[in-house]
Amino acid sequence: MARILVLGGTDLANAFIAALRAAHPDLEIVLSLAGRTRDPKLPDCVIRTGGFGGAEGLADYLRQEGITALVDATHPYAAQISANAATAAAETGTPCLHLVRPAWEQAPGDNWYPATDYEDATRHLDALSQTHPLTVFLTVGRQGLEPFHYLMNGTHVVRAVEQPDEAELPPGARAVLARGPFREADEAAFLKENEIDVIVSKNSGGTATYGKILAARSLRMPVVMVARPPVPEGAIVGDVESALVWVETAL
Ligand code: NAP
Repeated sequence: MARILVLGGTDLANAFIAALRAAHPDLEIVLSLAGRTRDPKLPDCVIRTGGFGGAEGLADYLRQEGITALVDATHPYAAQISANAATAAAETGTPCLHLVRPAWEQAPGDNWYPATDYEDATRHLDALSQTHPLTVFLTVGRQGLEPFHYLMNGTHVVRAVEQPDEAELPPGARAVLARGPFREADEAAFLKENEIDVIVSKNSGGTATYGKILAARSLRMPVVMVARPPVPEGAIVGDVESALVWVETAL
């Protein structure tokens, strides 16, 4: 029986698995999660949790488990596991697809400050806070907070799915725990209530976290938009339907 390994931790991976199960009820689907989120949303398939031990460990797993095809549906900012997937697939001759939501494009009314990475984002914040203290809405997740510890003139409101450790939070920051999807109206109310001056965002794509971008547009609020890391070489699609077509060729 063909076995597909899906690297997940995203709503897109779960949507892909649901569609794949419907299209191929006989296929064995294994979803791999890093194991960072307590109580993750789980689709109806075999679940494995935890790192593989680098590209080598993943290659061993592909061989030992007889994986027919690999679909990397991790978050666009999860660069390490995507690179490992490409390397392990090449090493073992396993067909590999990267399923990545297309990035958001700047639209009329948006006031984006493009940043190459988190350090670059902090330079924008320093420049914007020269004349007045900033209240920054940080929506980069728990793992990207370290560079934001050094904002001199301002405070942070950090939104994350899980409570960050005290040491992870920038000094004086307030954590707000929430899991998307987030609607534009709710985001606009949140931005006003918390007197936010600027948002820092990853370019995640999709609709689940786009509400804050729409709200910022309507409020004419600046958004420091952190660019995506490069996607490894190989087959790439941006939606579930295209991924299903790819699976047909890979089986
Ligand atoms: P990362 O930096 O690319 O990966 C770090 C290490 O975590 C990998 O080398 C791998 O360990 C392990 N890992 C990551 N994803 C895995 C998976 N699906 N299954 C098994 N092991 C995995 O990844 P990250 O940014 O920490 O993201 C971790 C997870 O959170 C991913 O599943 C990702 O889709 C999800 N997520 C990330 C973001 C984000 O902004 N980065 C946002 C939403 C969801 P080994 O080398 O030991 O195999």
